[in-house]
Amino acid sequence: MKSWIPIPVDSDFTIHNIPFGIFSNEGQARAGVAIGEQVLDLSAIHDAGLLEGIGLPTGVFGSPVLNGYIALGKIVWTATRQRLIQLLSLGNSELRGNENLLKKCLFAQRDVIMHLPVQVGDYTDFYSSREHATNVGTMFRDPANALLPNWLHLPVGYHGRASSIVISGTPFHRPKGQTMADDATAPTFGPTRLLDFELEMAFIIGQPNALGEPVSVEKAEDHIFGMVLFNDWSARDIQKWEYVPLGPFLAKNFASHVSPWIVTMDALEPFRVESPKQEPEVLSYLKSTGEHNFDIALEVQIVPDGQAPHTICRSNFKYMYWSMAQQLAHHTVNGCNMRVGDMCASGTISGPTPDSYGSMLEISWKGTRPVQMPDGTERKFILDGDTVIMKGHCERNGIRIGFGEVAAKVLPAKN
Ligand code: CA
Repeated sequence: MKSWIPIPVDSDFTIHNIPFGIFSNEGQARAGVAIGEQVLDLSAIHDAGLLEGIGLPTGVFGSPVLNGYIALGKIVWTATRQRLIQLLSLGNSELRGNENLLKKCLFAQRDVIMHLPVQVGDYTDFYSSREHATNVGTMFRDPANALLPNWLHLPVGYHGRASSIVISGTPFHRPKGQTMADDATAPTFGPTRLLDFELEMAFIIGQPNALGEPVSVEKAEDHIFGMVLFNDWSARDIQKWEYVPLGPFLAKNFASHVSPWIVTMDALEPFRVESPKQEPEVLSYLKSTGEHNFDIALEVQIVPDGQAPHTICRSNFKYMYWSMAQQLAHHTVNGCNMRVGDMCASGTISGPTPDSYGSMLEISWKGTRPVQMPDGTERKFILDGDTVIMKGHCERNGIRIGFGEVAAKVLPAKN
């Protein structure tokens, strides 16, 4: 399968991908798909009559969020993607041959602004990497009992805050908060000293369930539209003081960045892999057979102000102990209703070796093993002026798709 649009070698946005996003140049933000180094304007080609017969209401791609399109359901998602692949395939001239339309519907990605692709109603953050949970438990509790008793029996999670989920590229100020030093008798207030990233991915709900109606583990993947990269920024010193007994609060809700292009479950299909073996056996509502994990290579870079990017972590989504299907089945088993556009993040994705740990907390082991940077500085946590970039892609049998990147720069705390 080849496209008539030039696709650079190692592009994340091959014809096998077709990820959905919201962009703007002139005029209103609207829906597009990424192909090579360009954006295809879905609103323009729909208006031109090239997306007929697949159940798309007039104007659905003119909305500044994808929720309306996503709510049309899985049959429409698949048909739209198939039709776009057809239009972009070498040998198809319906779009390629229409020069007037091409001028109005193809734009260089570098010339457009990307926006948050969905209106996020609710956001849940899981804690589903065994390696990450083990590292954190080893550091803060007891190496012999690093995992809490519930961890192997259910996908631990907490309800996060949707309002502070922002698009890649949005700078933010180092948050302030209340912390308690180890040797102190009273807390102090000020900028966090332990600002950290968390390498995560998030899935986006595409099919809602009614209040009181659980989603089974077998049907859970049908409820997921696609995935994005997710940087769940964390202030470790604030977290340590505030999190007992109800869990994370202000240490987590000051900013979380997402990548702009939603890679669909259809595009991810060829990259399925088995999950790690679950021992002890899980309860029956969490049991599933087959491959429900995905082989997605992940990378984190730190870019000090004015410097070149430095890779400090390489991990993979396939290390996740709990699958997205299990997370969603668990989330809804009590009857909790999910809505279109809701986001569920994986939790920090750490691998088995120190170079695959998905947070500075683990990479620097609570600051005891500083990372040497090429410019001669060192990092225990993230400094003002640093940009953190996360990337993700899948590759198998010569086919590559990817997520592009999520990037964010840390500005000094506000006075
Ligand atoms: Ca997190």
